Amino acid sequence: MPVPESQPDPVREPALPATPWPARLAGARREREAAHRWRRRRVNHGAALDCSGNDYLGLALDSRVREAAADGARRFGAGAGASHLVSGHLAVHETLENALAEWLGRERALLFSTGYMANLGVLQALTDGETAVFQDRLNHASLIDGATLSGARSRRFHHRDSDDLERLLTRSRAAHRLIVSDGVFSMDGDVADVSALADAARRHRAWLMIDDAHGIGVLGEHGGGVLGEHGGGCTEDMGSAAVPVLVGTLGKALGTGGAFVAGDAALIEHIIQFARSYVYTTAQPPAVASASLKALDIVRREPEHRARLHANIRTFRREARRLGLPLADSATPIQPLMLNDEARTLRWAAALERRGIAVGAIRPPTVPQGQARLRITLSARHSPADIERLLDGLVACQHEVAP
Ligand SMILES: *Cc1c(COP(=O)(O)O)cnc(C)c1O
Repeated sequence: MPVPESQPDPVREPALPATPWPARLAGARREREAAHRWRRRRVNHGAALDCSGNDYLGLALDSRVREAAADGARRFGAGAGASHLVSGHLAVHETLENALAEWLGRERALLFSTGYMANLGVLQALTDGETAVFQDRLNHASLIDGATLSGARSRRFHHRDSDDLERLLTRSRAAHRLIVSDGVFSMDGDVADVSALADAARRHRAWLMIDDAHGIGVLGEHGGGVLGEHGGGCTEDMGSAAVPVLVGTLGKALGTGGAFVAGDAALIEHIIQFARSYVYTTAQPPAVASASLKALDIVRREPEHRARLHANIRTFRREARRLGLPLADSATPIQPLMLNDEARTLRWAAALERRGIAVGAIRPPTVPQGQARLRITLSARHSPADIERLLDGLVACQHEVAP
């Protein structure tokens, strides 16, 4: 109803004494800085020896993949122009989804613009307040956030501990249960025991979701990831019956960007209908899909990149052990060097940077308290001389950087 013009403004309640916004931000900053957790972005000019990224096969810089991106833009445009359900689902998206599904031995695959959005969407589409989600303690933030946003109850089991998972499953009275785990753990480089998870899921009538962001393209005879380790590109025993929900990302070993969910047709159709981070967003640019299609082709046809990567991993580990460096136990391109103390981790990373070597200085809250580390990553792009230079830099840290 319109208010008569003569009426005075309603009486306002007196304002509460609130902290001014700038002071709030400054307070948060002071706290983070005092804990050595304030993060700084660096512009990557491509000059340093990069041992911090996730371009494990060197495909981000592969000229054929770059050319495919350019070709995708020329043929389909710079952007998709709309969401998939409106008019943004282009032929190149469809072709890429079909190629991913065939590669992984699943009925269908569905593209998302990022892995973060894929995990939010899948968890929101599959779970609700009646669902218990069982997560490995070290799962990626996007999995934790996805369950939180869907209103599901997350139970976190000890890292790679199937006895602890069993205990939680036995206690649960939830109507629906979903077990969720990274395939390769992003900050530790170790691998989930998928057989044990699948076995627990079968016995407790739960579904199993594996996020293999760091395994896809890297592990398995044909690069099919942790599930491919059990046999072919993706195998019968680790197919949709054992692992109904498989998420992978394209911005790591495939060198491009975006992500996918692979599974049975009914699952994919459900996600298309119900995942809000799928429905309400513009489809990824066709250049990206075109580049991913070429990268996938290279991953399937040229096992030599994977072979070179694994040779680099073996060399690095052998030499690092000989030098007494505190390496974690990992057979993947993610090689954490456990320094534990946050300030010390920053000193080592800075010393390496001065030598032109980029590594990740990973601190809480990304990893648990007291477990700060250098996250060193290896790539097929690294030459033997690069590996040697990295090891020399680490030796210098051992001798020259204050403990
Ligand atoms: C990197 C990562 C993601 C997020 O993927 P983006 O495409 O970078 O958003 C999800 N899950 C895991 C395990 C990851 O390592």
